Amino acid sequence: MKAIIVGGGIGGLTTALMLRSRGISCELYEQSETIRELGVGINTLPHAIRELAGLGLLDRLDEVAIRTYELFYLTRHGQQVWHEKRGLDAGHDVPQFSIHRGRLQGVIHQAVVERLGADAIRTGCRLGAFTQDEGGVSAHFFDRAGCHVHTARGDILIGADGIHSRVRQLLFGIDRPHFTGCIAYRGLVPAERLAHLDLEVTSNSWWGPGGHFVHYYVAGGRLVNFVAVQEEETWTRESWNERGEVADALRLFEGWHPQVRTIIGAVDETFKWGLFDREPLPRWSVGRITLLGDSCHAMLPFMAQGAVQSIEDGATLTACLVEAGGDVAGALARYELLRKPRTTRLQEMSRHNKTRFHLPDGVDQQRRDAQTAAAGDRSIAAVGWLYAHDAGVLPDAAA
Ligand code: FAD
Repeated sequence: MKAIIVGGGIGGLTTALMLRSRGISCELYEQSETIRELGVGINTLPHAIRELAGLGLLDRLDEVAIRTYELFYLTRHGQQVWHEKRGLDAGHDVPQFSIHRGRLQGVIHQAVVERLGADAIRTGCRLGAFTQDEGGVSAHFFDRAGCHVHTARGDILIGADGIHSRVRQLLFGIDRPHFTGCIAYRGLVPAERLAHLDLEVTSNSWWGPGGHFVHYYVAGGRLVNFVAVQEEETWTRESWNERGEVADALRLFEGWHPQVRTIIGAVDETFKWGLFDREPLPRWSVGRITLLGDSCHAMLPFMAQGAVQSIEDGATLTACLVEAGGDVAGALARYELLRKPRTTRLQEMSRHNKTRFHLPDGVDQQRRDAQTAAAGDRSIAAVGWLYAHDAGVLPDAAA
């Protein structure tokens, strides 16, 4: 069997490694001219690290990431609402990492090049169209100028092409993402600039009316990553690379704890990110073609699940293809059946956290803080089902 993967992000690259490790050949097509290490920090939780460890990437991740040992929730004035040990300290079989998104992508990319060969990845190839028939699927790729550069033929096509997915559009029509009313300023601060704050190696989430602020170390402790979310009425572009003004971010966090403002104020450049949301799709697959990652379940980043769920998708899809033998349509139907309820639930939970994190001061906020203090939020007790999942192990069909 040969798979065509469209998109060289975290989902597409990881899936290429997984397929290869189970003897399924694949070619990956990326629209950018090079696979560049873009983005800022992300949290990678045990259920994704388990899959990456299974691919033998743990040591490499340790070199570029940092292990997170504790998670804190705080009010915007700095009162601690709740905290919990994370990763190995919490009894998981693998660590939790905070990592620059680009470095995570870089580690996986390097492994793909080593194991599949550089020829397995074709950059500068934007998917424009595809056709499928009983024997397979043909995908047509174009360069930036719109000239046809290549046609690939395979047994299955996997659309791992992100939030603006062309594959999704070709399968199901143009979608209408809705602006969630939230924007986020993201940034990376050299840790030595914040040395006077004595920040622990923890992940901290500060909640306040109409916004929240998250920070943690990445890059082996050399950088502090922050995401500063505030509510805003209108925004038109869904982009990762829009520049923002530090002064604007500081203004939005007036009255917050000095530590929050010090971190924002220490950054050289910040990116402003309009947060868009999508309804869960009714289906992901048609015949030999399916979707994976943000292309089929883009979600607000309020559960730290974007990259994690794309890795899980790859693991389940690979296992389904292996078990189904040559029955491609059967494998895709099973993949969708196993994955969609979980990602839909997480899309809904992430959306709900916008309201929950941003409550105005008052009775509801006090109730939230009391509940969180008692039972956590993303605590291991509250969402054990999330962390315990092993996406590469399929439930027994006969059970
Ligand atoms: P993505 O990581 O979005 O990858 C999709 C890939 O498909 C991209 O490389 C894209 O160029 C390629 N592609 C798109 N269309 C085509 C086409 N027609 N033909 C060929 N290739 C195509 N999340 C965070 O939480 N924090 C961040 O700071 C952050 N920064 C990001 C920066 C960038 C530049 C990108 C692309 C994504 C970022 N994300 C960030 C999102 C995060 O990486 C994803 O939510 C998660 O990793 C799931 O990834 P994915 O593989 O489904 O999609």
